[in-house]
This record gives sequence, structure tokens and C-alpha cells, in this order.
Amino acid sequence: MLTLIERLRDLQQMDAELRKLESEQRALPAQIDRHRKEIARRAAEIAHLEARRRETAVRRQTLESDLKTREAQATKFRQQQLLVRTPKELDAITHEIEKCESDISRLEDEILALIESEEKLAAELARLEAARRTQDEHSAEQIRILEALLAEKEQLARTLRADRTAALERLDESLRPTYEWLLKTHGPTAVVKLDGEACGGCGALLPASLAMRVGTDEKPHQCPHCNRFLFRPAGLGSS
Ligand SMILES: [Zn+2]
Repeated sequence: MLTLIERLRDLQQMDAELRKLESEQRALPAQIDRHRKEIARRAAEIAHLEARRRETAVRRQTLESDLKTREAQATKFRQQQLLVRTPKELDAITHEIEKCESDISRLEDEILALIESEEKLAAELARLEAARRTQDEHSAEQIRILEALLAEKEQLARTLRADRTAALERLDESLRPTYEWLLKTHGPTAVVKLDGEACGGCGALLPASLAMRVGTDEKPHQCPHCNRFLFRPAGLGSS
């Protein structure tokens, strides 16, 4: 048969475990979320690069089409150059040919630069895609582990809460509200050991007569300052 103070200590032990469990449970969803965000971030990064590569290709194709047009125009002007009859016409057509050639040279430079960009983007994409597979598998594995842990802790907490209810019911009805109030106010230090002749919770020195009585009778004694229940550590006599 447990003494009253032993029942209080049992109950407090459960409450301490329960609080620890609940705090661990609260931390887990954020950890799971971090892995999910990592997966999404990698996907977004790849999608962004993919879009840039597509835009670059479209821009290059437009310039390639412009280049063809200007080359065709240059050919046409060169043919017309052979047929001109006045120096004024020759000047005009020569000027047109020069404009075409300048455009062609500029377009070729721009197209080359775009091809280079596309190659760099493709290489970066290949690198990210290769790394992503391993990283996503790792994240998914971590999520599975954390979710299993969360489920395990939820189950443990349910069991512990049921045990706690039973333990509370075994406690004298008159002690329950005080214990619950102490737990709410101080956390699971509602029942503390005697520290010499002082309260192990608030540190206040107890009247000698009270300190002497702690642990010697069935009645649970309380600290007159903080109201915590007091117990005598094992192996310590009352005198
Ligand atoms: Zn105290």
C-alpha cells in the first residue's frame, strides 16, 4: 500500500513524463514541415531554371529567324547592286547591304551568347536533378521516421494520460485540487523533497517542528510559503 506522499510522487512522475512527451510532440510537426519545405524548394528551383532555359531557347529561335530574314535581304540587295544604273542608287543599296551585314554580325553574336547560356543552364539543371533525387529520398525517409515517432509519442501520451487519470483517482479527493493547482502554478515540482530543513521547491527554511514531522506520519505536509507537498529523501532520518 502506497503512502499518500508516494501516490503524489507517482502522479507527479507521470505529469513530468507527460509534459516532456507533449513538448517533444509539439516539436515534431515543425521538423516534418522543414523537410517538406526542402522538397518544395528544390522543385521550385528546378522549375525556375527550366523556365529560364525555355525563355532563352525561344529568344534564340526568334533571333535565328531574324538572322535568316536579314541574310535573305542581304542576298537580294547584292543581286540588285549588280543592276543599278546611277551612283545615287549604288550608294543607297550599298548602305542597305552594310546595314544588313552589321545586323547579321550582331545577331550572330547574340545567338552565340544565348547558346552559351542555354548550355550553362542545361548543365546546372542536370546537376540539380541528379542531386535532387538523393536529397528528396533522404527527406522522404526523414519524414517517414518523424511521422512514425510522432504516432508513437501520441500513443504513449494516450496511455500515460489514462494512467494519470487512474493515479489521480487513487489519490484522496481532498488532495486533488491542491495538487492540480500546484502543478499548474509550478509545473511538476508540486511534490518536493526536504532540503535539510528547507523546502526543496522555494528554498524557504521550514519551522523545525514541521521539518521534523515530514515523512514521519501518513499526513502529507506542505511548505507554509509555497504550499508544495514535502517528502523526506530516502535514507534521511527525521531527527
Ligand atoms: Zn516552499
